[in-house]
Amino acid sequence: MDETYDVAVVGAGPAGSASALRVLQLRPDARVLLLDAAAFPRDKTCGDGIAAQVLELLQALGVPNLARLGPAVPRLQLRSPGGRLVSRICARPNRVIPRAVFDAELVSAAVARGAELRRHRVRRVDVRADEVVLDGSIRARVVIGADGANSTVRRLLGAPETPSAATAVAIRGYAPTTLRPDALVIEFARGRYPAYAWSFPLPGGGSNVGYGVFDRRGAGSRQELLDAMRTLLPGHEPTPETVRGHHLPLSTGPRHHPDGRVLLAGDAAAMINPLTGEGIFDAVASGVLAGRAALLGAAAGAAHRRAMTRSFALHHQHGAFLSRLVSNARFLDAAVTAAERHQSVFDAAVDLGLGRGTAPVAALARVAAAYVTLGRG
Ligand SMILES: Cc1cc2nc3c(=O)[nH]c(=O)nc-3n(C[C@H](O)[C@H](O)[C@H](O)COP(=O)(O)OP(=O)(O)OC[C@H]3O[C@@H](n4cnc5c(N)ncnc54)[C@H](O)[C@@H]3O)c2cc1C
Repeated sequence: MDETYDVAVVGAGPAGSASALRVLQLRPDARVLLLDAAAFPRDKTCGDGIAAQVLELLQALGVPNLARLGPAVPRLQLRSPGGRLVSRICARPNRVIPRAVFDAELVSAAVARGAELRRHRVRRVDVRADEVVLDGSIRARVVIGADGANSTVRRLLGAPETPSAATAVAIRGYAPTTLRPDALVIEFARGRYPAYAWSFPLPGGGSNVGYGVFDRRGAGSRQELLDAMRTLLPGHEPTPETVRGHHLPLSTGPRHHPDGRVLLAGDAAAMINPLTGEGIFDAVASGVLAGRAALLGAAAGAAHRRAMTRSFALHHQHGAFLSRLVSNARFLDAAVTAAERHQSVFDAAVDLGLGRGTAPVAALARVAAAYVTLGRG
């Protein structure tokens, strides 16, 4: 029997599971190996915010009933650095699902569909003419690197380092208190670099709280991040053993999708939204594209690069443009003011921050008008 897998996926987070599910959706008899250094369920340092768009993608992948894992959180409340507040119902509700639960559910779905799950940390990738060999013994026609923000596969592919300006740093913890059970709450900080604290209500009570800075140069120490969070969320103290920090490779960093048999998806492909720090949607969406391209053998890399450009280039351009503007606190004040006045601006901001949206000219015009008014005021 041929010992070569059709596709080996390195990393079984949302990007890896989505890749495996997509391969098996398109070719149910494909031999798919899903490798992860950790045993599931495993924690992942995250805000646990699952955008409505994520569940839609997973539904299309044939994983329909994830909504049962976390009740709908209908509202998004956001305060700008200057104290402007918007609190509105989202067109589709988001959810909060601890990653220990969410990721294990996706892995189970991939295994139920036929993927083979193996606990294994990949350290070596040898690319040959007609196959890829992992750690000298695991052979696959195509490999998908979905191994997260510290991706080994990305490094071994020779990808450029993500610069500090395109790297966010964040801490998160679990608090027994809840600020608003019906809302994802975001409180922006004043400061040189965009930064915010969040409080997301957990199913069954308590909340995931955290603080992130959208530029590594402005992050400071873990203690400074915690102190900044406490200033913005007084009284919502995380239990110390749940506090963990991590960096986030933003989509403003360099793309790396070379020709050949090794593809990247999710954080390994630096896909995180530079406006919100959301990365699960981008992980699943890029995993879906990688899964499709992976069936093309030596042509997979070029096909994946084209598909990623088609799907994400415009969204990334708009995100990069606006991420430069939000360094200006008055711009954020104006954006929040416009979103409070106009549902259409709010909806566009949600689509841009949590999905694959772009910034409509009409919404930008309303933000510009608010910017001018605030300048006079
Ligand atoms: C503090 C913080 C808060 C965040 N909050 C949110 C949020 O609320 N909502 C949101 O959408 N996004 C959020 N993000 C971003 C989100 O966590 C990531 O974008 C998302 O997890 C990316 O999924 P992934 O599958 O690419 O990688 P991961 O989820 O990191 O999965 C990678 C997997 O690869 C495995 N692995 C790593 N190296 C190897 C190896 N060499 N061999 C085998 N396996 C390996 C790991 O064990 C892991 O299971 C947050 C990030 C941080 C740091």
